[in-house]
Amino acid sequence: MKSPAIEVTGLHKSYGEIEAVAGVDLHVAEGEILAFLGPNGAGKTTTVEILEGFRSRTAGQVSVLGQDPATAGLDWRERIGIVLQESQPEEFLKVAETVTIWAAYFSDPRPIDEVLQLVGLTEQSDQRVGRLSGGQQRRLDLALALVGNPELLFLDEPTTGFDPTARREAWAMIDGLRDLGVTVLLTTHYMDEAQHLADRIAVIAAGRIIARGTAEDLAEAASMQTRISWDSQEVPLAELPEQLRGTAAVSDDPGETGSPGNPFSVSPQRLVILTDDVSDTVAALLQTAGRLGRNINSLEVLAPTLEDTYLSLIGEADRAGRLDR
Ligand code: ATP
Repeated sequence: MKSPAIEVTGLHKSYGEIEAVAGVDLHVAEGEILAFLGPNGAGKTTTVEILEGFRSRTAGQVSVLGQDPATAGLDWRERIGIVLQESQPEEFLKVAETVTIWAAYFSDPRPIDEVLQLVGLTEQSDQRVGRLSGGQQRRLDLALALVGNPELLFLDEPTTGFDPTARREAWAMIDGLRDLGVTVLLTTHYMDEAQHLADRIAVIAAGRIIARGTAEDLAEAASMQTRISWDSQEVPLAELPEQLRGTAAVSDDPGETGSPGNPFSVSPQRLVILTDDVSDTVAALLQTAGRLGRNINSLEVLAPTLEDTYLSLIGEADRAGRLDR
């Protein structure tokens, strides 16, 4: 088994009366991408900055790349890359110059050309930093974090403000770090980003981890079900086998049924089943359609998204009073 890149046990941080982090355990394996999610004020920044060695802790054990960030020295810092939401390199310098200057701070930097290629800035290498677009600026931020050849990278909301194409490109770049064996701790408010990039996810709320695991583990913990729907004209409710009839309902999504207030709406009524047992349900539906001599072209099977799961987990924690500090 690989040694952990990050091992945190019983982490606490108080600011006066406020307990920002209230007993966090976190384990990130070497080479893993972990997404750290949570609502505003949940304690993400506080936790991450303790791991980066920028904030002191009130209590708990913290090991990052085998050392305690509170006492680790420069050699340790060189092994870590940090991409802040906004770093501000000098605007009058050129891109390659900026990365070269940065590289001089490290004992074993990655070749400049390789870094520029990795982040897709080769063509801009002679461009002044002040002339870069917002997305290119963020690529440069990533280049500066990578030039030191880090084993562990902290990525703070790496695609905030990106257009959809730039986000996809950034995701491909971050995915590429996997091949380099870099461990990544990613904080983001974009659930699709976490779903796309992360091997595992930890959800923090009110200073406590309320769920952790893969997106599937989280969906299971939140008792999220898969949504199967189809047009009732193809297989009507009354034709369903007994065991499905009780679980099927008419969709209450006006987009699906055709809004009653909209005279132009012609969508047929849709039937919906929420289930954990996708294959048996779909098989029974197809069998019914076959018996009726119909096609079921309208069939839609939607696994829960991470956003659904996340909202459900936060809602559950809130109702249980676990978000009260
Ligand atoms: P966001 O998603 O908004 O960035 P976060 O999850 O990063 O939020 P933190 O910034 O860690 O949350 O804040 C956790 C709690 O600690 C909040 O209640 C915040 O107001 C409080 N807090 C953070 N930094 C300080 C500080 N320096 N002094 C006092 N309270 C603080």
